[in-house]
Amino acid sequence: MTATDLRTIGVLGGMSSESTVTYYRQIDRAIADALGGHTTGDLLIRSVDFGDIERFIRTDQWDAAGDYLAEAATALEAGGADFVVMATNTMHKVAPAITSALSVPFVHILDATADAVRDAGVDTVGVLGTEETMAGSFYRDRLADHGLDVVVPEPADREAVDRIIFEELTKGAIRDASRERYLEVVDSLVAAGAEGVVLGCTEIELLIEQADRPAVPMFDTTALHVERAVEHALGERPLASDG
Ligand code: GLU
Repeated sequence: MTATDLRTIGVLGGMSSESTVTYYRQIDRAIADALGGHTTGDLLIRSVDFGDIERFIRTDQWDAAGDYLAEAATALEAGGADFVVMATNTMHKVAPAITSALSVPFVHILDATADAVRDAGVDTVGVLGTEETMAGSFYRDRLADHGLDVVVPEPADREAVDRIIFEELTKGAIRDASRERYLEVVDSLVAAGAEGVVLGCTEIELLIEQADRPAVPMFDTTALHVERAVEHALGERPLASDG
């Protein structure tokens, strides 16, 4: 297989660029590992303005966010993307607006994540992410569709987890005190019945990792989403459009 046989991945990114960089690097490395030589991913990145996204979230303008991201996704399709991945968990709240605007498949972050959780034999999973991801229904409902139960942190812990995402991680600030705070929240999720924890924000893998709590299975949504995208790019996993 050469680069010309690869499917073109459209990455809807910039939410934040800290995690989009990880997607870019991990996609290239995985394809280089699979195909050898100097082969890397064939991809397009459409990086949106994170200031707009943050404002849509803070002001609950989900319809406007859906329109904005649907337009950005169609630009990826027009540019030649064979399928689209969106490099954020939170904005999957508006995934229906994006999928209905696209003719090419949209590869949902939670489908890859839920499959990994189930493969690990975990039925009840804790979720760390933004306030909307933890406390809203879209994430919980999609995991429930896959047969999974969800536990989320208490309000004060959610406030800290959300604040660290927006004030630190999305700005590239990685602090030991915040890592300790996140690990306390992981421990409280386990005490509340979680058998594993979804790192449900694409920047969290910059702060904590499996080795920080070896006994608690952690599901890194960035890595799982990249892995799924690469399988589609290599043709190892069919796309919905393959029929
Ligand atoms: N990247 C984060 C996520 O996965 C948060 C930033 C955003 O709101 O998109 O949810």
